[in-house]
Amino acid sequence: MGFSRKRTLVTGGSGFIGSHLCERLLAADHEVLCVDNYYTGRRQNIAHLLGDSRFEALRHDITLPLYVEVDEIYNLACPASPIHYQFDPVQTLKTSVHGAINMLGLAKRVKAKIFQASTSEVYGDPQVHPQPESYWGHVNPLGLRACYDEGKRAAETLFFDYHRQHHVRIKVARIFNTYGPRMHPNDGRVVSNFIMQALRGEPITIYGDGLQTRSFGFVDDLVDGIGRLMATDDGFLGPVNLGNPEEFTILELAQTIVALTQSRSQLVFKPLPTDDPKQRQPDISLAQEKLGWTPKVQLHDGLKRTIAYFQSIVE
Ligand code: NAD
Ligand code: UDP
Repeated sequence: MGFSRKRTLVTGGSGFIGSHLCERLLAADHEVLCVDNYYTGRRQNIAHLLGDSRFEALRHDITLPLYVEVDEIYNLACPASPIHYQFDPVQTLKTSVHGAINMLGLAKRVKAKIFQASTSEVYGDPQVHPQPESYWGHVNPLGLRACYDEGKRAAETLFFDYHRQHHVRIKVARIFNTYGPRMHPNDGRVVSNFIMQALRGEPITIYGDGLQTRSFGFVDDLVDGIGRLMATDDGFLGPVNLGNPEEFTILELAQTIVALTQSRSQLVFKPLPTDDPKQRQPDISLAQEKLGWTPKVQLHDGLKRTIAYFQSIVE
């Protein structure tokens, strides 16, 4: 029934994760309004959706107010790779804080349920391992990563205050490192960097000794988790960790990508960026309990699918 179709706003919908989310929402028969200022997102990520009459793309910066009528909001707009978010730190912070205020104000006015894409970065360089949602984190508020980390922390505060003060229906997920097709090839993130370097036969740049760890989640698993979180009853707000608890060193990731691409690239060691977290692994017991969610895609399989994507765009 056309009348009962959900009208859903996705901010950052032309980005890596947002474009997969738009696809999944259309598959569930939502009417999707994709809002993006194309700061790090690309029109080609959503080009295949433009022919669908239920899909609409709007160029807009969420640091400015937006007046639309929707039933649900997914707030993903924010540059996510360290290179991108450190390029214009003030804009990054504005996107997280002013963007959250604008989207929460919209949610309040139209009584929409609203999802916030928070991040494992709220845990900073964690002193508790793995990280449960109850951990308050260890963030340098003055460092180069603070524009992103503190912006996302302030956005979480705004979400919970809008809920307590204005009864806005919120859902907050803390997303851990995610990878997959449509990552930006030049965004400097470790998976895209290593795959592009391996495919071009260039040196693989390991920052530091490569013994720092990350836990990599495939984008399909993440989008599934976001969908399950949005479907929970209004009593469950999060924050909930969404990530793959399998932890790898950056060196192991490099070796795996070299093997899967059969590359001749050599590993080279470069200085470790400031405030680079030493380890990161989600405790996903809350997601398992509340969402019945466990990631399904193993790193090898997800990397193969991501490598195939990068092969298709490399000249
Ligand atoms: P991305 O850079 O590919 O996507 C972000 C999108 O937001 C882009 O399309 C960009 O153009 C848009 N955008 C940025 N500022 C905007 C603004 N002011 N107004 C409108 N649009 C704006 O990044 P992604 O990896 O798809 O990340 C999506 C969300 O998930 C982000 O909020 C990010 O913080 C969060 N997240 C991602 C990861 C990850 O590993 N990819 C991990 C944790 C959290
Ligand atoms: N990294 C690396 N080589 C690269 C890019 C990143 O060794 O070419 C390291 C980086 O220092 C960090 C890890 O890989 O320890 C993950 O970096 P990314 O930027 O992907 O995400 P984040 O640090 O935000 O988790």
